[in-house]
Amino acid sequence: MTSAPLFMLNNGVQMPAIGLGVFQTPPEETTAAVQAALSAGYRHIDTAAAYLNEREVGEGIRRSGLDRSEVFIETKVWISDYGYEQTLHAFEKSAAKLGVDYLDLLILHQALSTAFELTIQAYKALETLRGEGKVRAIGVSNFTPEHLQRLLDRIQVVPAVSQIELHPYFTQQATRAIDAAHGILTQAWSPIGGITVYRGDPQKSTLKDPVILRIAKAHGKSAAQVMLRWHLQQLRSAIPKSVRPERIAENFDIFDFELTASELAEIDSLDTGVRGGPDPDSITLEAFGRPIPEA
Ligand code: NDP
Repeated sequence: MTSAPLFMLNNGVQMPAIGLGVFQTPPEETTAAVQAALSAGYRHIDTAAAYLNEREVGEGIRRSGLDRSEVFIETKVWISDYGYEQTLHAFEKSAAKLGVDYLDLLILHQALSTAFELTIQAYKALETLRGEGKVRAIGVSNFTPEHLQRLLDRIQVVPAVSQIELHPYFTQQATRAIDAAHGILTQAWSPIGGITVYRGDPQKSTLKDPVILRIAKAHGKSAAQVMLRWHLQQLRSAIPKSVRPERIAENFDIFDFELTASELAEIDSLDTGVRGGPDPDSITLEAFGRPIPEA
């Protein structure tokens, strides 16, 4: 069976480049989606406490029959659990729901720019968990270059991964540059531009982009496969989401073709500089806080 290339993180841990995302995957569909992914060859799942489907992710992994050590499990701490003690407890909640005793990658889901001290304390808890071997690698999500700099000024362990919105219409050059400067692996969320479908005009989504469709046709591949290949060739991790087994398999069938340098540049040039998701500075506990249930 084909397997995804591995990226070596800045602490020596190896992570499969392509993972299955499960944001907006309803709990009742999650176990089947995870099983479909693992049988297609995926060995990396990206979930989050806030997705409320960690239990079902764990069930899918167990039903696959694979050994725990064969699957790279990534999850995220929600802002309502920030603070040193709270974040240590958030690990316990996620691990118990997933049914595992360690996580491969635990990341902060958002920066709280108006409560940055809480964000720092949450990150310090990740450092502790990493030191205790309860998580193999730690990281951040939705951090802007300013957030990353504020964090780096205060912490010991450089994040291994920076998960950000990244697709052909929003390519995040500035965040990628600071990630690269610090040896942080950039990981693309909405890697095939899902957010341009569910928060934009589906007719103007990346999946319908004429340039991407032309490149796809030239390779006998789909638009989604071309975008995933673009990430891979630019050395980014990507975590496409689908609940449909045929698309889950399609999104993993990207290891047998190569985009040319000019095709990569054409896709780069589609950047609009406009994000689909919320402005990371608009994330506050008041607006986005909600309790994460106990295990
Ligand atoms: P994606 O770019 O992965 O796109 C997913 C959407 O595209 C879904 O609507 C899916 O529908 C559809 N789709 C999947 N495969 C194909 C295909 N081959 N052809 C056509 N359509 C397809 O967007 P997401 O926003 O879901 O991002 C992926 C993952 O990134 C999330 O699941 C989550 O793990 C992570 N994420 C993290 C965020 C963060 O704040 N850190 C925010 C958002 C996402 P269907 O399921 O019906 O196939």
